[in-house]
Amino acid sequence: MPFKPLHPCAQPGCPALTNKRYCPKHQHEVDAYYNKNLRDPAERQRYGAEWRRIQANNLWFQIYQAVRENNAADYSGKTPHDDVMERILNSQ
Ligand SMILES: [Zn+2]
Repeated sequence: MPFKPLHPCAQPGCPALTNKRYCPKHQHEVDAYYNKNLRDPAERQRYGAEWRRIQANNLWFQIYQAVRENNAADYSGKTPHDDVMERILNSQ
């Protein structure tokens, strides 16, 4: 078994000796901290952006379907997204 020097846990005030950065107790807490405060927000942000993109595409697809089913000529929306709708319709 290779020799690994023991040193105090990296958590300030913790007297436990370990050959890793933290003792098992604090390694667990550090992992939990990363999972809770670092990893998850990044994933939420990533999936959030992806979700908004999908949702936006899905919304416009639904609008386009509705416009097409109800005859595009009758479409007279006054939303700030009219230009987007126009581009969608003109591209068909
Ligand atoms: Zn510790």
